[in-house]
Amino acid sequence: MLKIENLSVHYGMIQAVRDVSFEVNQGEIVSLIGANGAGKTTILRTISGLIQPSKGTIQFEGKPIQKRAPRKIVAQGISQVPEGRHVFSGLTVLENLEMGAYLRKDGSLKEDYEHVYEKFPILKERLTQDASTLSGGEQQMLAMGRALMSKPRLLLLDEPSMGLAPIFIKEIFNIIQEIKEQGTTVLLIEQNAKMALSIADRGYVLETGKVVLSGTGQELLDSDEVKKAYLGG
Ligand code: ATP
Repeated sequence: MLKIENLSVHYGMIQAVRDVSFEVNQGEIVSLIGANGAGKTTILRTISGLIQPSKGTIQFEGKPIQKRAPRKIVAQGISQVPEGRHVFSGLTVLENLEMGAYLRKDGSLKEDYEHVYEKFPILKERLTQDASTLSGGEQQMLAMGRALMSKPRLLLLDEPSMGLAPIFIKEIFNIIQEIKEQGTTVLLIEQNAKMALSIADRGYVLETGKVVLSGTGQELLDSDEVKKAYLGG
Protein backbone atom coordinates (compact mmCIF):
# COMPACT_ATOMS: atom_id res chain seq x y z
CA MET A 1 0.00 0.00 0.00
CA LEU A 2 2.78 2.41 1.01
CA LYS A 3 6.26 1.82 -0.36
CA ILE A 4 9.19 4.01 0.57
CA GLU A 5 12.44 3.52 -1.25
CA ASN A 6 15.82 5.09 -0.54
CA LEU A 7 14.33 8.12 1.11
CA SER A 8 16.68 10.89 2.24
CA VAL A 9 15.58 14.16 3.81
CA HIS A 10 17.72 17.19 4.63
CA TYR A 11 17.10 20.33 6.66
CA GLY A 12 19.64 22.62 5.00
CA MET A 13 22.99 20.91 5.59
CA ILE A 14 21.61 18.51 8.21
CA GLN A 15 20.58 15.08 6.96
CA ALA A 16 17.70 13.83 9.12
CA VAL A 17 16.75 10.70 7.10
CA ARG A 18 19.34 8.49 5.36
CA ASP A 19 18.40 6.16 2.58
CA VAL A 20 15.36 4.71 4.35
CA SER A 21 13.24 1.99 2.70
CA PHE A 22 10.18 0.31 4.18
CA GLU A 23 6.69 -0.86 3.32
CA VAL A 24 3.26 -0.83 4.85
CA ASN A 25 0.85 -3.47 3.54
CA GLN A 26 -2.87 -2.99 3.49
CA GLY A 27 -4.52 -3.97 6.78
CA GLU A 28 -1.35 -3.76 8.86
CA ILE A 29 -0.24 -1.71 11.83
CA VAL A 30 3.42 -0.88 11.20
CA SER A 31 5.41 0.83 13.97
CA LEU A 32 8.54 2.91 13.51
CA ILE A 33 10.41 3.19 16.76
CA GLY A 34 13.56 5.07 17.70
CA ALA A 35 15.01 7.56 20.15
CA ASN A 36 14.57 11.34 20.08
CA GLY A 37 15.90 12.79 16.86
CA ALA A 38 16.03 9.45 15.00
CA GLY A 39 14.02 10.96 12.14
CA LYS A 40 10.57 9.51 12.80
CA THR A 41 8.59 12.74 12.61
CA THR A 42 10.55 13.82 9.55
CA ILE A 43 9.51 10.63 7.74
CA LEU A 44 5.82 11.13 8.57
CA ARG A 45 5.90 14.77 7.52
CA THR A 46 7.57 13.78 4.26
CA ILE A 47 4.86 11.18 3.54
CA SER A 48 2.21 13.86 4.21
CA GLY A 49 3.89 16.20 1.72
CA LEU A 50 4.88 18.80 4.32
CA ILE A 51 8.59 18.32 3.59
CA GLN A 52 10.19 17.51 0.24
CA PRO A 53 12.68 14.64 0.21
CA SER A 54 16.14 15.22 -1.23
CA LYS A 55 16.16 11.69 -2.66
CA GLY A 56 13.98 8.60 -2.98
CA THR A 57 10.39 7.72 -3.77
CA ILE A 58 7.14 7.35 -1.84
CA GLN A 59 4.45 5.30 -3.53
CA PHE A 60 0.91 5.03 -2.25
CA GLU A 61 -1.28 2.38 -3.87
CA GLY A 62 1.20 2.21 -6.75
CA LYS A 63 1.39 5.95 -7.46
CA PRO A 64 4.29 8.26 -6.60
CA ILE A 65 3.18 10.95 -4.15
CA GLN A 66 6.45 12.60 -3.17
CA LYS A 67 5.84 15.71 -5.25
CA ARG A 68 2.18 16.19 -4.37
CA ALA A 69 0.71 18.95 -2.23
CA PRO A 70 -0.41 17.93 1.27
CA ARG A 71 -4.13 18.50 0.49
CA LYS A 72 -3.89 16.18 -2.52
CA ILE A 73 -2.27 13.53 -0.37
CA VAL A 74 -5.12 13.78 2.15
CA ALA A 75 -7.64 13.61 -0.68
CA GLN A 76 -5.89 10.48 -1.94
CA GLY A 77 -6.50 8.71 1.37
CA ILE A 78 -3.67 9.48 3.81
CA SER A 79 -4.32 11.41 7.01
CA GLN A 80 -1.86 12.38 9.72
CA VAL A 81 -2.37 12.93 13.43
CA PRO A 82 0.55 15.20 14.29
CA GLU A 83 2.76 15.02 17.34
CA GLY A 84 1.29 17.21 20.08
CA ARG A 85 -2.20 16.80 18.52
CA HIS A 86 -2.51 20.38 17.19
CA VAL A 87 -6.23 20.64 17.69
CA PHE A 88 -7.61 23.99 16.55
CA SER A 89 -8.05 26.16 19.63
CA GLY A 90 -10.82 28.74 19.42
CA LEU A 91 -12.88 26.12 17.62
CA THR A 92 -15.24 23.70 19.33
CA VAL A 93 -14.87 19.94 19.31
CA LEU A 94 -17.54 19.68 16.62
CA GLU A 95 -15.86 22.37 14.48
CA ASN A 96 -12.56 20.49 14.76
CA LEU A 97 -14.25 17.34 13.48
CA GLU A 98 -15.81 19.33 10.65
CA MET A 99 -12.34 20.55 9.65
CA GLY A 100 -11.31 16.91 9.28
CA ALA A 101 -14.08 16.36 6.75
CA TYR A 102 -13.23 19.54 4.84
CA LEU A 103 -11.85 17.78 1.75
CA ARG A 104 -14.60 15.18 1.57
CA LYS A 105 -16.61 15.32 -1.62
CA ASP A 106 -19.13 12.62 -0.77
CA GLY A 107 -22.09 14.02 1.14
CA SER A 108 -22.92 11.38 3.75
CA LEU A 109 -21.08 12.55 6.85
CA LYS A 110 -23.70 11.70 9.47
CA GLU A 111 -22.63 8.08 9.73
CA ASP A 112 -19.00 9.10 10.05
CA TYR A 113 -19.69 11.46 12.95
CA GLU A 114 -21.60 8.63 14.63
CA HIS A 115 -18.67 6.33 13.99
CA VAL A 116 -16.28 8.80 15.66
CA TYR A 117 -18.63 9.29 18.66
CA GLU A 118 -18.91 5.55 19.06
CA LYS A 119 -15.12 5.28 19.26
CA PHE A 120 -14.67 8.36 21.41
CA PRO A 121 -17.86 8.81 23.48
CA ILE A 122 -16.23 11.64 25.45
CA LEU A 123 -16.15 13.80 22.30
CA LYS A 124 -19.91 13.56 21.92
CA GLU A 125 -20.29 14.91 25.44
CA ARG A 126 -17.99 17.85 24.67
CA LEU A 127 -19.15 18.94 21.21
CA THR A 128 -19.55 22.62 22.08
CA GLN A 129 -16.44 22.89 24.27
CA ASP A 130 -13.39 24.81 23.00
CA ALA A 131 -10.90 22.17 21.88
CA SER A 132 -8.01 23.86 23.73
CA THR A 133 -9.74 23.22 27.07
CA LEU A 134 -9.80 19.43 26.62
CA SER A 135 -7.32 17.31 28.59
CA GLY A 136 -4.28 15.90 26.78
CA GLY A 137 -5.90 12.50 26.34
CA GLU A 138 -9.12 14.05 25.07
CA GLN A 139 -7.15 16.21 22.63
CA GLN A 140 -5.44 13.08 21.32
CA MET A 141 -8.86 11.50 20.80
CA LEU A 142 -10.11 14.61 19.04
CA ALA A 143 -7.05 14.70 16.77
CA MET A 144 -7.65 11.03 15.89
CA GLY A 145 -11.38 11.61 15.37
CA ARG A 146 -10.61 14.61 13.16
CA ALA A 147 -8.22 12.50 11.05
CA LEU A 148 -10.81 9.71 10.75
CA MET A 149 -13.36 12.22 9.42
CA SER A 150 -11.33 12.40 6.20
CA LYS A 151 -11.97 8.62 5.86
CA PRO A 152 -8.31 7.73 5.33
CA ARG A 153 -7.22 4.36 4.02
CA LEU A 154 -3.85 5.00 5.70
CA LEU A 155 -3.67 6.72 9.08
CA LEU A 156 -0.33 8.19 10.21
CA LEU A 157 0.02 8.57 13.97
CA ASP A 158 2.88 10.60 15.47
CA GLU A 159 3.56 9.74 19.12
CA PRO A 160 -0.03 9.26 20.27
CA SER A 161 1.14 8.28 23.77
CA MET A 162 3.18 11.44 24.35
CA GLY A 163 2.44 13.06 27.69
CA LEU A 164 -0.50 10.80 28.53
CA ALA A 165 -1.23 8.90 31.72
CA PRO A 166 -0.88 5.10 31.44
CA ILE A 167 -4.63 4.54 31.53
CA PHE A 168 -5.15 6.88 28.57
CA ILE A 169 -2.25 5.28 26.69
CA LYS A 170 -3.92 1.89 27.03
CA GLU A 171 -7.22 3.27 25.81
CA ILE A 172 -5.62 5.01 22.83
CA PHE A 173 -3.77 1.85 21.82
CA ASN A 174 -6.96 -0.23 22.10
CA ILE A 175 -8.64 2.24 19.79
CA ILE A 176 -5.74 2.06 17.31
CA GLN A 177 -6.26 -1.70 17.16
CA GLU A 178 -9.98 -1.21 16.65
CA ILE A 179 -9.28 1.23 13.81
CA LYS A 180 -7.15 -1.41 12.13
CA GLU A 181 -9.79 -4.11 12.65
CA GLN A 182 -12.30 -1.87 10.94
CA GLY A 183 -10.11 -1.74 7.85
CA THR A 184 -7.84 1.32 8.15
CA THR A 185 -4.11 0.68 7.73
CA VAL A 186 -1.93 2.37 10.36
CA LEU A 187 1.63 3.68 10.38
CA LEU A 188 2.53 4.48 13.96
CA ILE A 189 5.62 6.24 15.23
CA GLU A 190 6.42 6.06 18.91
CA GLN A 191 9.05 6.40 21.56
CA ASN A 192 6.97 4.02 23.68
CA ALA A 193 8.50 1.00 21.94
CA LYS A 194 6.81 -1.60 24.12
CA MET A 195 3.27 -0.42 23.41
CA ALA A 196 3.99 0.32 19.76
CA LEU A 197 5.52 -3.10 19.06
CA SER A 198 2.93 -5.02 21.04
CA ILE A 199 0.15 -3.90 18.69
CA ALA A 200 2.27 -3.90 15.49
CA ASP A 201 2.14 -6.52 12.77
CA ARG A 202 5.61 -5.35 11.77
CA GLY A 203 8.06 -2.74 12.90
CA TYR A 204 11.24 -0.91 11.97
CA VAL A 205 13.87 0.52 14.29
CA LEU A 206 15.42 3.85 13.30
CA GLU A 207 18.71 5.19 14.56
CA THR A 208 20.12 8.54 13.44
CA GLY A 209 18.02 8.57 10.31
CA LYS A 210 18.63 4.96 9.24
CA VAL A 211 16.67 1.72 9.52
CA VAL A 212 18.82 -0.61 11.62
CA LEU A 213 16.40 -3.48 12.35
CA SER A 214 13.07 -4.77 11.13
CA GLY A 215 10.77 -7.68 11.87
CA THR A 216 7.36 -8.61 13.17
CA GLY A 217 6.24 -6.79 16.31
CA GLN A 218 6.92 -9.92 18.35
CA GLU A 219 10.37 -10.52 16.81
CA LEU A 220 11.40 -6.99 17.69
CA LEU A 221 10.00 -7.28 21.22
CA ASP A 222 12.08 -10.45 21.65
CA SER A 223 15.24 -8.99 20.10
CA ASP A 224 18.13 -8.45 22.52
CA GLU A 225 19.13 -5.23 20.77
CA VAL A 226 15.63 -3.80 21.09
CA LYS A 227 15.35 -4.94 24.70
CA LYS A 228 18.64 -3.31 25.60
CA ALA A 229 18.13 -0.04 23.75
CA TYR A 230 14.38 0.57 23.98
CA LEU A 231 12.75 -1.66 26.59
CA GLY A 232 14.96 -0.91 29.57
CA GLY A 233 17.12 -4.07 29.52
P1 ATP B 1 11.27 13.05 18.32
O1 ATP B 1 10.76 11.76 18.81
O2 ATP B 1 12.09 13.77 19.34
O3 ATP B 1 10.26 13.91 17.66
P2 ATP B 1 12.15 12.11 15.76
O4 ATP B 1 12.67 10.74 15.66
O5 ATP B 1 10.76 12.33 15.34
O6 ATP B 1 12.37 12.67 17.21
P3 ATP B 1 12.83 14.23 13.95
O7 ATP B 1 11.97 15.22 14.64
O8 ATP B 1 12.40 13.69 12.67
O9 ATP B 1 13.14 13.02 14.94
O10 ATP B 1 14.28 14.88 13.82
C1 ATP B 1 15.35 14.26 13.10
C2 ATP B 1 16.55 15.20 13.08
O11 ATP B 1 16.26 16.33 12.25
C3 ATP B 1 16.96 15.76 14.43
O12 ATP B 1 18.36 15.78 14.47
C4 ATP B 1 16.38 17.14 14.44
O13 ATP B 1 17.14 18.03 15.23
C5 ATP B 1 16.45 17.54 12.98
N1 ATP B 1 15.36 18.47 12.62
C6 ATP B 1 14.04 18.25 12.74
N2 ATP B 1 13.33 19.31 12.30
C7 ATP B 1 14.24 20.22 11.89
C8 ATP B 1 14.14 21.54 11.31
N3 ATP B 1 12.96 22.10 11.06
N4 ATP B 1 15.30 22.17 11.02
C9 ATP B 1 16.51 21.59 11.25
N5 ATP B 1 16.66 20.36 11.77
C10 ATP B 1 15.55 19.67 12.09
